[in-house]
Amino acid sequence: AERATTTGPRTVRAARGTTLSAKSWQTEAPLRMLMNNLDPEVAERPDDLVVYGGTGKAARNWESFDAIVRTLEGLEADETLLVQSGKPVGVFRTHEWAPRVLIANSNLVGDWATWPEFRKLEQQGLTMYGQMTAGSWIYIGTQGILQGTYETFGAIARKRFDGSLAGTLTLTGGCGGMGGAQPLAVTMNGGAVLVVDVDESRLQRRVEHGYLDEYTADLDEAIARVLAAKASRTPLSIGVVGNAATVFGDLLLRHRSGDLVVDIVTDQTSAHDPLAYLPVGVEFGDWSAEAERDPEAFTDRARGSMAKQVAAMAGFQDAGAEVFDYGNSIRREAELGGLAHDRAFAFPGFVPAYIRPLFAEGKGPFRWAALSGDPADIAATDRAILELFPDDEHLRRWITQAGEKVHFEGLPARICWLGYQERHLAGLKFNEMVASGELSAPVVIGRDHLDSGSVASPYRETEAMADGSDAIADWPLLNALLNTASGATWVSIHHGGGVGIGRSIHAGQVIVADGTELAAEKIARVLVNDPGTGVMRHVDAGYERAREVAAERGLRVPMQEG
Ligand code: NAD
Repeated sequence: AERATTTGPRTVRAARGTTLSAKSWQTEAPLRMLMNNLDPEVAERPDDLVVYGGTGKAARNWESFDAIVRTLEGLEADETLLVQSGKPVGVFRTHEWAPRVLIANSNLVGDWATWPEFRKLEQQGLTMYGQMTAGSWIYIGTQGILQGTYETFGAIARKRFDGSLAGTLTLTGGCGGMGGAQPLAVTMNGGAVLVVDVDESRLQRRVEHGYLDEYTADLDEAIARVLAAKASRTPLSIGVVGNAATVFGDLLLRHRSGDLVVDIVTDQTSAHDPLAYLPVGVEFGDWSAEAERDPEAFTDRARGSMAKQVAAMAGFQDAGAEVFDYGNSIRREAELGGLAHDRAFAFPGFVPAYIRPLFAEGKGPFRWAALSGDPADIAATDRAILELFPDDEHLRRWITQAGEKVHFEGLPARICWLGYQERHLAGLKFNEMVASGELSAPVVIGRDHLDSGSVASPYRETEAMADGSDAIADWPLLNALLNTASGATWVSIHHGGGVGIGRSIHAGQVIVADGTELAAEKIARVLVNDPGTGVMRHVDAGYERAREVAAERGLRVPMQEG
């Protein structure tokens, strides 16, 4: 008989402190992290179980949520819960080295992997969209965006400017949800930045949240302020109210005439959706009415304006600036708007340009959360990281400033990029700190699925791989299998995160540092092997840096031996 559906939306918040409702920390941890993802401080639409990224959910529905909670509370140390697209579907006897939870979200057979098919199946209650860290219970709020953006600008600093952006000027567009991290990421790297947005309220909001220093509607004033900051090598971010399609062109003229030098140019307007990009000639107040009245005509105008903006970006590239596409498809939209292909694609996307060299070293968005709920635990882990990696200036700058500037959302957490043969040092240290009582409760250690060996995504993470293997999805599957074999606490395989259904396959792992000897054994394997798959993947694709890292740090790759 059908059970009555008595469950529904309510406010969820992870327990804090050391009283367990599950039988051990190994199952208390996934329980708290599931709940943390749905904390109103963390989730975008908690009533609908949506955590972030459009419709990325933590559980299929409230009944499934309740059943997961109930099952985790009773789960034994030698049992494994299986979750199929947000619904708990089975409990199996395994062993204590096995994951306590195995998750598969949003996966579809190739020919069926389209949004319309997915939505149909979702409406039938058969699946859910898991995004990357929503359905795998390791989302930590906007800190992740800020850190990823910090990392990109840090990579540019190392590539072109001796490791710091001090004395440089960055020009960018778009100060919205994700783009709003740009000004703070640049100033954290020591630079001056001018960010153009048509929507004054967006700039206002970033100032209120400490992501932007100030804003003005007066372009000349904005330019004077950032040039003074650049000259004195002082970090400063200025927002200017304006349309990037015209402001970029205007600044290029001034750059060419020698009035100013722009060093770095990018953009994070919502170019991927032409109705969300304001064309030149449309008043800000008429935006939504115009877009609704004739979406096709509006799209044409938006693309025409993007063609202007991208032509200016290509002009900056010609003039020697560091120019890149920041993952918003503006190059392709500009081409659709009439710009010649070789001009539209005159500059690279950010992954091939800056992130891939980090991926080749197994570096990626490593993160951890304090199950105690006590910010002092994260402060202690921050100090431990600084002690473990005293020579990494870039890491020191991030950890120090994150401690001052990042407000925690939900359970206190920290993210930083660490690579192969680095992550386990942090994990083992944290485990010791739990054992000694220096941390007041265990920590969970995980990462984004956007990592060096765990994602196949030809429009983003695996764009333009050296050997053309962009769409090969064996790698994330091997990553998940290896993490399962190595002792991770929960492991997930998802489809469609970041770039949408049909466009990516990716995997995640989380491991609990509960202070036990067994946890240390597992950490020593998982946190070596997991980033190791990234080095392996990049060795296989022919990246020289990955070969060096494998040779120097002892990663075995059979085809390189003998
Ligand atoms: P958002 O919609 O919150 O913000 C976009 C901003 O652009 C808005 O503030 C809007 O006012 C402004 N804008 C629109 N037209 C403009 C114009 N002509 N001139 C100046 N400003 C204009 O979007 P978001 O979440 O900040 O994301 C921005 C883009 O970055 C999206 O295309 C998104 O897909 C992409 N993105 C990339 C990554 C990545 O990995 N690099 C991550 C997330 C998002």
